[in-house]
Amino acid sequence: MTISENVAAIRAKMDAAAVACGRDPKEIRLCAATKMNDADAVRQAIAAGVDCCGENRVQELVQKQKENAYHGVPVHFIGHLQTNKVRQVVGKVDLIQSVDRVHLLEEIQKEAAKQGIRQDILLEVNIANEASKSGFQAAQILPLLEHISDFPNIFVRGLMAIPPISKKYGDNHKFFQEMLQLSVDIRAKKYDNVWVEYLSMGMSDDFEEAIACGSTMIRIGTAIFGARAYDRLHQK
Ligand SMILES: *Cc1c(COP(=O)(O)O)cnc(C)c1O
Repeated sequence: MTISENVAAIRAKMDAAAVACGRDPKEIRLCAATKMNDADAVRQAIAAGVDCCGENRVQELVQKQKENAYHGVPVHFIGHLQTNKVRQVVGKVDLIQSVDRVHLLEEIQKEAAKQGIRQDILLEVNIANEASKSGFQAAQILPLLEHISDFPNIFVRGLMAIPPISKKYGDNHKFFQEMLQLSVDIRAKKYDNVWVEYLSMGMSDDFEEAIACGSTMIRIGTAIFGARAYDRLHQK
C-alpha cells in the first residue's frame, strides 16, 4: 500500500466512524505523526490530504522545516519537549500539543512574550495515570486553568491524550470518555485564554473508538507510513 492509499483508507474509516455515531466527519482532523519519516514521505502524506503534521523530536522538526517538508499544512509539535529546546519550537509551529507540566508552560510563556506572539497549545493529560508517561493528571487541569491568565501569551486550544496501547475495540473507551467529559467541563467554565476546539486523541490502533468518544483530531503514524524502524526492531 502506498501512503496515498493508506490516507484514503483512513479517511474512509474516519468518515464511517463519524457517521456511525451521528457526527459530521468534517469535525475531525487527521494529523500525520511524521516521526522517523523523511521529507519525501511527509510530502506524499500532505499531497494525499492529511490536515496537519505532528512532529515528535525538535531535531527532526528543524531539519524537515529546512527542507520545506510541511509546505501546505499546519505543523504541530506532539513529542516530549525539553525546556532547553523551547526556543526552537515556540513561534515555529502552529500548535504545541504536548504541554505536560507547569514548568514547560512557564518557559513557553517566557519565550512567546519575548517574541511578542501568542502560542497555541494543548494540555497533555496522562489519562490512565501511567508512570511511564508524562502529562497532567486529569484532576490538575481545572485548577491549572483557574490561573491560566498568568500566561497571557499562551492560548489553550484543548487537550491531548496518549492512553495505553489498545489491543481491541473498547480497551480505551473509559479513558476517551473521561477526556471528553474533561473538555466539556472546561468549556462550561469559560476561562480567558482558553477555547477548547481540539480534543486530540486516537492513534493507528484506536482512532475509530476515539472518534466515537468525541475526538476532533486523530494522530496517525503507522497506518499512514508503515511500521517505524525502531518498531520493526522491537517486533523481533
Ligand atoms: C507516534 C505518535 C502517534 C502515532 O502513533 P501510531 O500508533 O504510529 O499511529 C501519535 N501521537 C504521538 C504523540 C506519537 O508520538
